[in-house]
Amino acid sequence: MIAPLNRALSFESSYLGNVDPIRRRRFQVNAGKRRNTAHGTLKVIAIDAAQPFDSEAREDVKAQRQKVLKIGIVGFGNFGQFLSKRFLESGHSVIATSRTDYSTHASAIGVSFFADADDFCEEHPDIVIFCTSILSLEATMRCFPFQRLKRNTLFCDVLSVKQFPKQLFLQLLPSNFDILCLHPMFGPDSGKNSWQDLPLVYDKVRVGNEKCRSERCNRLLSFFELQGCRMVEMSCEEHDRQAASSQFITHTVGRMLGTMELSETTISTKGFDSLMSLVDNTYHDSFDLYYGLFMYNKNASAELARLELAFNQVKGELFGRLHDVIRSELFTENSGAHSINENPEKR
Ligand code: NAP
Repeated sequence: MIAPLNRALSFESSYLGNVDPIRRRRFQVNAGKRRNTAHGTLKVIAIDAAQPFDSEAREDVKAQRQKVLKIGIVGFGNFGQFLSKRFLESGHSVIATSRTDYSTHASAIGVSFFADADDFCEEHPDIVIFCTSILSLEATMRCFPFQRLKRNTLFCDVLSVKQFPKQLFLQLLPSNFDILCLHPMFGPDSGKNSWQDLPLVYDKVRVGNEKCRSERCNRLLSFFELQGCRMVEMSCEEHDRQAASSQFITHTVGRMLGTMELSETTISTKGFDSLMSLVDNTYHDSFDLYYGLFMYNKNASAELARLELAFNQVKGELFGRLHDVIRSELFTENSGAHSINENPEKR
């Protein structure tokens, strides 16, 4: 008796791993009933197939539909488009607005574009994500018609600095809006294929208590989780501390190497290939983005100074040793050391 029961239970747990929560619950109820039959044997039966007249199936469809988010992108540039494509692939609907008119491009990928921010807001997206440059966020927000949105819209940003948008959101957004600060730590180059294990930093700055508000926030986060991102919950302040010594330095070194215009050689080492891919991942980003990483992260100046110090120290070590070698040659007895002070004409 025990053996078939165990076999069936292990089938149940391995099979149910792939089943959605509503169906899993239904299955478990059915399986539970079977276990309690007079015969005591467990029979695994097929899960009920969805039928159009079945009210449970209709509930499933409704739940599925509720999972679809209407996402509004503000700033339909490089990163805004990159993000929109993934949202669309996951079944969410996307609308966008931007300084530049992207109507043709947007409709080609299935995004509804609104050149006018008022029209965009009147579409009442569930979530508004600011994908503008760091430098233009404040000006864009100051003329954004928030009053035309739904009363409790969720506001997000994807800026590569975090303390600045957080403070701006808290300062400018009506108190009934939710705030979720995000930083996908990858871009159109580094995330062009899979997002598996790429970090997504988030800070739930202000999310209302109502169930629907926390669910909406979690639904957006679960989009990134389902894409395979490594979810990192972190305060905006801590993000900026860590990003200055990692991301900002990465971009600085990438830009320096890009400025050197290095090119492939026939004897490139793996190390050199890594440097070339660093240039690929950073040098094509706009200078506005790089400048924003510096200007709007108060920890960046100190890290730049440390980088410069380290460079001078390494260079100092090289030249220090070179000088030692030259001096020891100059001042050893049998070298021509003293001859350098002599007048060559006397020789
Ligand atoms: P970006 O140069 O930082 O931003 C371009 C966007 O900013 C475009 O949508 C552009 O609108 C808008 N913009 C620029 N100046 C503007 C102004 N004066 N007024 C209104 N809008 C203005 O390049 P990006 O790579 O697309 O980055 C967008 C955001 O994503 C940034 O905040 C960046 O930090 C963040 N991010 C980027 C990456 C990445 O790898 N690229 C990764 C993570 C996060 P128009 O196109 O309409 O001119």
